[in-house]
This record gives sequence, structure tokens and C-alpha cells, in this order.
Amino acid sequence: MSEFDVIIVGAGPAGASAAIKLAGAGSSVLLVERGDPPGSKNVSGGVLWGDSLGSVAPDWEKAAPMERYVEAKGVSFLTKDSKISIDFRSKKLQERRSGYTVLRTKLDGWLSKKAKDAGAMVASGITVDKLAFKDDRVIGVEQDGDIITSDIVILAEGANPRVAINSGIRERLKDRDVAIGVKEIIKLPEKTINERFNLTSSKMGFASEYVLGFLEGGVKAGGFIYTNKESISLGLVISMKEMRQNNNTRSFDLIEQFKEHPYIAPLIDGGRVDEYSAHMVQEGGLKSVPQLYGNGFMVVGDGAGFSFSNGMVLQGMNYAIASGIAAAESAIKAKIKSNFTMEGLSSYEERLKSSFVLQDLMNFKGIEEVTWSDMIHRGIPNMSEELFLSLFSENGQPKAHMINLLIRAMGHSDVPRKDMVINMYRMLRRM
Ligand SMILES: Cc1cc2nc3c(=O)[nH]c(=O)nc-3n(C[C@H](O)[C@H](O)[C@H](O)COP(=O)(O)OP(=O)(O)OC[C@H]3O[C@@H](n4cnc5c(N)ncnc54)[C@H](O)[C@@H]3O)c2cc1C
Repeated sequence: MSEFDVIIVGAGPAGASAAIKLAGAGSSVLLVERGDPPGSKNVSGGVLWGDSLGSVAPDWEKAAPMERYVEAKGVSFLTKDSKISIDFRSKKLQERRSGYTVLRTKLDGWLSKKAKDAGAMVASGITVDKLAFKDDRVIGVEQDGDIITSDIVILAEGANPRVAINSGIRERLKDRDVAIGVKEIIKLPEKTINERFNLTSSKMGFASEYVLGFLEGGVKAGGFIYTNKESISLGLVISMKEMRQNNNTRSFDLIEQFKEHPYIAPLIDGGRVDEYSAHMVQEGGLKSVPQLYGNGFMVVGDGAGFSFSNGMVLQGMNYAIASGIAAAESAIKAKIKSNFTMEGLSSYEERLKSSFVLQDLMNFKGIEEVTWSDMIHRGIPNMSEELFLSLFSENGQPKAHMINLLIRAMGHSDVPRKDMVINMYRMLRRM
């Protein structure tokens, strides 16, 4: 007989949500987390989109440590001298409470406590080495040669899935699977944040993604700025391939270039860097999804490749929570039938397929090729800068029609027009 019904590796949003659901349903659960306390190893932008948390914590909007709800959402293209932005503000976003900014140290601590309160055993400060097998079935986890047994193991170890790789249930990561995320938390007074981001209350938040078309060496990266109550989360997501191809590129140089941009620097002026962190970001789309379940195990969250990024939003926490809950539900079903085999856990994939988790990945298959394309990172920023300069400069000459300005502006980007048109068509289809 196993020591636990379920062992969960990793107390991020995926693992903690699975633990809350399972313990709440009466299963004996061990939630193992290498960070002590939970959350101390985690990095996220982060905006928590959607209401997936509602199914494990119905009162989450009031009880969870949310910073600000996103009422202002931006998307900007930056060139060396310009910022071309959409700044969407809507009372309707406020009514829908679409997204909240969060700080992971607080959120993960809260989720782990919820798991503990529901009856799970939370073991923090322990790093699982690999899965333990008997014949072809997972029977628990191994750490420093000790084996703890369970009927099912849920791997919720995030974007760097070493346990899965060390256990031979997935391949090593490829450059296309992940990007590098670097982030700073910059302290500023609440009032200053409200004034700088034009926020009328301290509950209201601003979240924006930036395409950084000006970085030295043409490195492709996206930036983000999210407002917390008394701090700003500012960071970059950088293509792993680009980093590898250009040995001179250092993530900390790139974040400095972002911070020094003429239209970013005033937003953080006088702020104090309180935290600096780096983490892998799951980016590979459907191609990065590994085997999701097998005899005695399931894989959830970033470790399963579940994330969505289209340059306008970066989402992973909502997929992590939803997949953690789906795995928990399948584990509950498997326990009822006492069937922990691959067949007994197959309902996990069915649940994911009938939810946004796998549907988004399937519907937006290949989107990462658009997100990291030359068109997005060099073409559009340069083209739109030229277009708006033409539109908003008066030089005493007859005005040209928009279509002519657009064609001319396309010539100002170093991406060939033919590639721009093909990629724009691809972008419209894939986005
Ligand atoms: C810079 C950056 C910005 C992001 N911005 C956003 C955003 O704005 N919105 C959004 O939704 N998502 C964002 N994401 C993605 C989001 O953070 C992830 O999708 C999400 O955290 C995945 O949750 P998870 O539970 O699967 O993994 P994680 O949150 O990574 O949790 C995994 C946990 O497992 C633990 N662990 C790992 N290995 C072991 C082991 N061997 N033994 C024990 N414990 C282990 C880790 O310490 C960690 O606590 C961002 C990510 C980064 C890096």
C-alpha cells in the first residue's frame, strides 16, 4: 500500500491547485516544493488572467493576495526613439475583472496554505530528484536515494522539467520550447504609480506588453510592465535561440536597455529595485507538449507546455491552475476505480481537450512562429514609426493617401515587403 494517494512535485499555481482540489476531496496528498517557503523560487510577470482559481477557492477575489485588477491594458512597439501604443482602458474590463496583477511570493504562499488547510501535507525546501518506478509504473518519487510512495504522481515542476527529463518520460528541452524571462520588482509609492499610469484608484492596475524593436544586435525580446500596489513588475522575455546565437547578449544588459528607453525611464524614475530574478518561460506551443500521462503519473502546468503568448498577453498561470485541477479530477476518478494505469488516467487529456487549455494550444498552433518573427520585432515597429511620422508631420507638401504612406513605410523596415505581407497574413490567421 502506498504512503500517499497522490504526490505532487512543485507548489506553483498548478501543483497547489491540484493539491487543494485533491485534499478537499479527501485524498491524502503530499505537496513537495523545493523553495522554502513556497513561492520563493518563483517568477512571473505577472497578471493572473481569468477565474480558474474560482473552482478551488470561490472567494479568491477577496481572499487571495491580488495586487490590482487590470483596467488599463497596453500593447506597444518601441523603436530607439518612438513608442507606438494601444492603451485600452475600459470600465467593462473592470466589471469583468479579467486580470489581476500578482506577486508570486505572496500568491504561492497563500495557495500552499490553502492546500495545507484543505488537509494536504506541504513539504517545502525539498527537491525531488526523479520518479520512482516499479516495472513500467510510477510508484512515487525519489530524493537523495529515499523513495516516498504514492498511487499517482502529479508533476507540476514548471518550465524546467528536470524530474520528467531525469526520469526518461520526456526529452530534453530544445531552444524552441522556452524563452528566458528576467524581471525586476521596482518599488514606488502608490500615489506615484497612480499618477504615472493615469490610474484613478489604487485598486486599478495597468498592464502592458512591449515589442522591443530597438535592442542592440537586433535581439528579439518582449517587455512587460505591470503595476502592483506599491511596486512595478518590469521584465523581458528573450528568445533562447537569439541568446545562444549572440554570445555577447546578456539578459541584464537588455533589461537595462529597456529601462533606459526614453518612454520607459520616466515611468520608473526614482524607483528602487527590490528584487531581481530570472526564470525560463514556457513558449513552445503545441510542439512542446510532452507525454501528458502514463502509468501512475500526470504532467501539468508549464511542465506540460501549457502557456499562451501572442505578443499582446503572456498567460501561463491560468493554464497551470486549470490543468492542475483537471489532473486532480482525473486522480479522484482513478481512485474511485482503483485504476492508476495509463488507461485509468486517460480522462486527464480528455478534460484538457474539452477546456481552454488544449483547445487554445490547438487553435493557435504555430503562433510562436509569428510572435518571434522578424515582422513583429523589426518590421512592424519600424514601419509604424515611419507611418505615424508621415501622418503627424506637416512639411508643406501635398498629403499622400494612407495606402501610399503604408507602402512607403513598409520600405523603411529591413524586412522585405513580400515577407511582411506573407507574415501579416499568417499573423491574422494564427492570432
Ligand atoms: C518573466 C515571466 C513573466 C511571466 N508573466 C506571466 C503573466 O503575466 N501571466 C501569466 O499567467 N503567466 C506568466 N508567466 C508564466 C507563469 O509564470 C507560468 O506559466 C506559471 O508559473 C506556471 O505555473 P506552474 O505551477 O506550472 O509552474 P511554476 O510556477 O514554475 O511552479 C513550479 C514549482 O515547482 C517547484 N519545483 C521545480 N522542480 C522541483 C523539484 N524537483 N522538487 C520540488 N519542487 C520543484 C518550483 O520551485 C516551483 O515552485 C511568466 C513567466 C515568467 C518567467
